[in-house]
Amino acid sequence: MKRTQIRTSEELNTGKFNEIVRLVEAFAAQKDDFLVAYSHLKYLSHLKDNHIRDALTKKKFVSPYGLKTRARNMALAEAFSTIDTYWQRTIKGIKKYIYRRFDDEQERHYAFWLLRRCGHLSLVMNGIIPKGIPKPKKGKPKVVLTVERKRDIVSFLRRTLRRYLGERPRVHLKRSMVFDAEMYRVFEESGRQYVSVSKFSGYGRIAIPLKGRQAINGIIRVILDRNARTVEIHVVGDLTPEPIPEENIIGGDFGQTEVLATDTGNKYGPSFGKDLRAYADMVDKKCCQRNKIHVFEKSLRATVPEKARCIRKNNLGYKKWDRRKAGAVGRIKTEVNTALNRLIDEEHPSILVHEDLSNYKPPRGKGKFSRNCHFWFRSVLSDRLPFKLQVGGSDSQAVNPAYSSQTCPSCGYVDRKNRNGDRFRCRNPDCPDNGVVLDADVVGARNLKTRMDDPEIRLWTSKERVRDILVKRFEARRLEGKRAKAVDPTVPAKTPDTAMISVHKERSLGERNYNGVVGG
Ligand SMILES: [Zn+2]
Repeated sequence: MKRTQIRTSEELNTGKFNEIVRLVEAFAAQKDDFLVAYSHLKYLSHLKDNHIRDALTKKKFVSPYGLKTRARNMALAEAFSTIDTYWQRTIKGIKKYIYRRFDDEQERHYAFWLLRRCGHLSLVMNGIIPKGIPKPKKGKPKVVLTVERKRDIVSFLRRTLRRYLGERPRVHLKRSMVFDAEMYRVFEESGRQYVSVSKFSGYGRIAIPLKGRQAINGIIRVILDRNARTVEIHVVGDLTPEPIPEENIIGGDFGQTEVLATDTGNKYGPSFGKDLRAYADMVDKKCCQRNKIHVFEKSLRATVPEKARCIRKNNLGYKKWDRRKAGAVGRIKTEVNTALNRLIDEEHPSILVHEDLSNYKPPRGKGKFSRNCHFWFRSVLSDRLPFKLQVGGSDSQAVNPAYSSQTCPSCGYVDRKNRNGDRFRCRNPDCPDNGVVLDADVVGARNLKTRMDDPEIRLWTSKERVRDILVKRFEARRLEGKRAKAVDPTVPAKTPDTAMISVHKERSLGERNYNGVVGG
């Protein structure tokens, strides 16, 4: 995992600043040349190896901008990384069009297979059907497609890629340069830290005074700030986690209303549920409208094709619609990130115990999209969570979430009725917390935390088994409590008759509720 650490320099004198500007401008110009030369598809399969670089060396290539060999190689590597990102982004971007265009699973599978390999991609762009056929997905039948279908898919991809490719990448802002570890030195003088780099020409070095002091190593990027006459130094090091704080285990429950609730009673990202719902409703409503228009447009196709075309163009386009969705998704992602940052800053967990996200089953909500939305949110979380935590010096542990929001943390009584929306009230009349209303997500977080070193309930324990274990524990605890009461005369014992009734009542209540309980 990578992490960028940003350092700023003191204001530089004119001589030093101009030297750096010369370096950066030469670097940018050289990178731009390489971008133009190698962004063609035919070089795509060589971006990850050293073919092109070695060929340049062999040809005794001299940078027309006066860059030294090492800097020239860095410019080449930079250009390659930009080109790679450009292609990756294009391919990722057209995935949704494939889903829209093809319903058949085999056709989609074939289309994605074509996109995955650089070699195939260049054939596709030339309208040629590559040889071979993808291996079937696990447990799926062999892929069988006629030549006509293949040709259709290839030409669809070709058209879509062309349309989506847009402008080839270029250097627009000449303001940054990359140095590898051999191209700079770090030293300290009278308590100030400096980074020194070779001058553009000649043998001298430029020493850049920095604010603050921290280890600098590996590849660095120097970015100009022309107005302030300073530079920023971005250290793209491997992730160096902050020291892990003392044992501070925190249970976290990803809620329906907020991003996260902890067992300490804090909530992060409180408006999250509302935003997610608003987004789902917006998409549902809009899709419904679009469907109606679509039906109308279809009915016109045969009779008034011109009008149908107008509707397709003006009312059923994707550009604006995609932009609107992307905006909402961005806002929700930011909310998740902010919530996680705040958790780490405020509580410094050494381990965050959370529900296992890999087997998440969305709640049985109203709309299909609403469920998908929660599903998608879980995937954003499972992407961001380990990274965020590691950067913050924390660890994470996934645990089995079954019944964690229906179990009373005080007495262990499991009942679906314990939870009502975001409120939790234990239904066991003998519970020490009886009558107390708790926050359901905080209860969930407390239960998850205890799962961390639970000897019986493991990540892979089935839901049914978890329920059995919890019920058994509750019964054992209750019997023990009874025995203690019988021995201790200061505790008023119930008369045998009423005790029997309450056991009977609880059992029947329990049994009814244990059946068909949906977990989580
Ligand atoms: Zn209870």
